[in-house]
Amino acid sequence: RANIRGNTSLGGEAKTYIDAGKLVPDEVTINMVKDRLAQDDCAKGYMLDGFPRTIPQAEALGEFAKINFVVEIQSGDEIIVKRLTNRRMCKVCGKIYGIDVPPKEDSVCDEDGSELYQRDDDKEDVIRDRLATYHKQTAPLIEFYKEQEKLVTVNGEQPIDDIFNEIVEKLKK
Ligand code: ZN
Repeated sequence: RANIRGNTSLGGEAKTYIDAGKLVPDEVTINMVKDRLAQDDCAKGYMLDGFPRTIPQAEALGEFAKINFVVEIQSGDEIIVKRLTNRRMCKVCGKIYGIDVPPKEDSVCDEDGSELYQRDDDKEDVIRDRLATYHKQTAPLIEFYKEQEKLVTVNGEQPIDDIFNEIVEKLKK
């Protein structure tokens, strides 16, 4: 997104795919990540979220980055569907509500009293499509990183604070 906003050549390339409703090819995404990780604020380390999503992306990443840990937040599909379909966002301040953090009053933001809405990509059929893509393309990364002894698995079916604490504890080791 920053590449697109900044009108970089990679951003322009990505935009042509996005505007056409197509997925940005790995080559373009990988180059963006490579550029980003070369910036000063990444010199002491960084955390990637949502990348890599495929084996070819992970292999490319391994060529230019040193990955210490990969955190797998493990959760059953039905729990994910339940959490996401119950997620609501505030139209004004963007605050996110869900099963763990419900609004005090149904469909109303605690902060500003605005109406809450459901994002299109939190609709059940969209979530099930994304889960299918995850199982096909991304789940193979679990074995890939397990073989490299980098995988840290945490229980994603517990409350958010407990997930956080488990991640912190396991990364300390
Ligand atoms: Zn709000």
